[in-house]
Amino acid sequence: KPCVGVLALQGAFREHAASVTRLGAEAREVRQLGHMDGIDAMIIPGGESTTMGKLLVELGMLDPLRRRIEDGMPVYGSCAGLILLCREIENSDQPRLGVLDAVVRRNAFGRQVDSFETELDLPELGMPPFPAVFIRAPVLTGVGPRVRVLAEVKGQAVAVRQDNVLATSFHPELTPDTRLHRYFLEMCGN
Ligand code: GLN
Repeated sequence: KPCVGVLALQGAFREHAASVTRLGAEAREVRQLGHMDGIDAMIIPGGESTTMGKLLVELGMLDPLRRRIEDGMPVYGSCAGLILLCREIENSDQPRLGVLDAVVRRNAFGRQVDSFETELDLPELGMPPFPAVFIRAPVLTGVGPRVRVLAEVKGQAVAVRQDNVLATSFHPELTPDTRLHRYFLEMCGN
């Protein structure tokens, strides 16, 4: 069974680890560079992308993680994790992995709609629609030619895949629906 690293510096990592474990994979909390040895995939959770990015730099993990992803390791980022994966972050020079050819706008739904849940049409996962929880969520305002848009809200991408990189603006780890994590484990060859 695949060993899925869950970046555990900050944010909603426990829920991701639980989802992965429930599906029969091994979850390993990654808190320092050495913990990345032997993992087959990585999940970057929601939280605060600037904080997580700074910690990745301080711990010397940002460049090694980027290399692993560029070498083909499957990675899934949700919310702040999505932001960290993007090549361009609107109005921000915060540290990032930059492996996803996309432009992201943070906190894109504004103050009035801090968080919400919606039944999201996500054809790749079949029916019924996915119960997507958005919390101060980003959207992608531009995607490159190799990026496949899996779901949109009001015409803007909120779930995408570029080869071994999967990213969602929402938090599937906060709902009992495991289809998104199962989809990611399939990307890990399982
Ligand atoms: N607003 C956060 C950020 O910009 C992301 C929110 C989340 O991960 N739930 O980093």
